[in-house]
Amino acid sequence: MTAFQLQSDPVAGRRPTWIEIDLDALAHNYQLVKQQVGPGVQAMAVVKANAYGHGAVECTRRLAADDADWFGVALPEEGLALREAGIRQPILCLGGFWPGQETLIVGHNLTPVVYGIEMIAALDRASKDAGVTTAVHLKVDTGMGRLGVRGDALDALLDQLTAFTNIDIAGVMSHLASADETRLDPFTERQEERFAAAIEQIRARGWNPSIIHLANSAGALAHPAARGNLVRPGGILYGMWRDVLPPTDTPWDLRPVMSWHTRVALLKNVPAGEELGYGCTFVTARDSVIATLPVGYHDGYMRNLSNRGRVIIRGAFAPVVGRVSMDLTMVDVTDIPGVQLHDEVTLLGSVDELAITAEEIATATGTLSYEVTCGVSERVPRVFSSKHARSAE
Ligand SMILES: *Cc1c(COP(=O)(O)O)cnc(C)c1O
Repeated sequence: MTAFQLQSDPVAGRRPTWIEIDLDALAHNYQLVKQQVGPGVQAMAVVKANAYGHGAVECTRRLAADDADWFGVALPEEGLALREAGIRQPILCLGGFWPGQETLIVGHNLTPVVYGIEMIAALDRASKDAGVTTAVHLKVDTGMGRLGVRGDALDALLDQLTAFTNIDIAGVMSHLASADETRLDPFTERQEERFAAAIEQIRARGWNPSIIHLANSAGALAHPAARGNLVRPGGILYGMWRDVLPPTDTPWDLRPVMSWHTRVALLKNVPAGEELGYGCTFVTARDSVIATLPVGYHDGYMRNLSNRGRVIIRGAFAPVVGRVSMDLTMVDVTDIPGVQLHDEVTLLGSVDELAITAEEIATATGTLSYEVTCGVSERVPRVFSSKHARSAE
């Protein structure tokens, strides 16, 4: 559904700045991953950080309805929100948990990643108290350097693990640091080798983890050897791939899920030679028509887009002029005939053959596409669409 086909105002009674989440595109992208990895491999939809800004509950509900195998969150509290929304699939807490969250993990059947003896001991105690055994996934650091037990500390940890009666090491995982960078493929291969060695070490001690996983988006699609029996795609589910996967000659059929819209709040004729916006960073070179848009950096429309970004109005690109401010942004529509007050404007997304991708905005602002979608603030309502059905958040 393109922005120009809107039948009614999806955010009636509010400032008309909203994002649309195409749940059919999300489902399509998940199925594409499933096809790529084949039948022996499960796929965990990573929905941490509010599904990279897309709305975790709605995205997860859709994927759950389409039989997604697993969900991945960063924090136990994110997992709790999904359980409260009725999600029954297994949920992995990728970042582990904090002291005091053990009963949350146990009580809501969340599966935590563990990487230190103290957290395992605390979880064992809470599990005993509840009379259950808690499944965990042990994280091994194979080169990312962030979370995980280093290979040279693994033996000592495995020695201590025997003390715990109510912990089941159901999975072993690690995380790739550079699976999207072809020039670093030798590093990725070294991570794969270290991971295989760690699994052997764990099995040699009599543990029999059944779930083995290492691959993020780039690992899942570009490094078949990293798949294990579960892959953990995040960004590609939301249709971001140009700065997520290794370069390719054949574009992936991954569809952007988020689009971002607003409307013209004010139009004015400005003569040549006038300054626009904070800091007077733009001076009109000609008699101009300037449109003011009700969106700014508090919404996540980055200030770095000042004099650099572009939007789509009436089927044409219009450049951002002057500084993006907290709540307002100006664009130059001099070259676009017929622009009217309240015309719809696309900040992110496509209209017919024109497109502004998260990757494009990321390149213009020196960041990663993830930061663009994660950065859309809570002030911006999310409108979820699926086969022409729509529901506002
Ligand atoms: C965020 C995350 C992922 C997903 O990464 P993408 O690059 O978005 O596919 C996978 N695994 C872990 C541990 C993560 O933190």
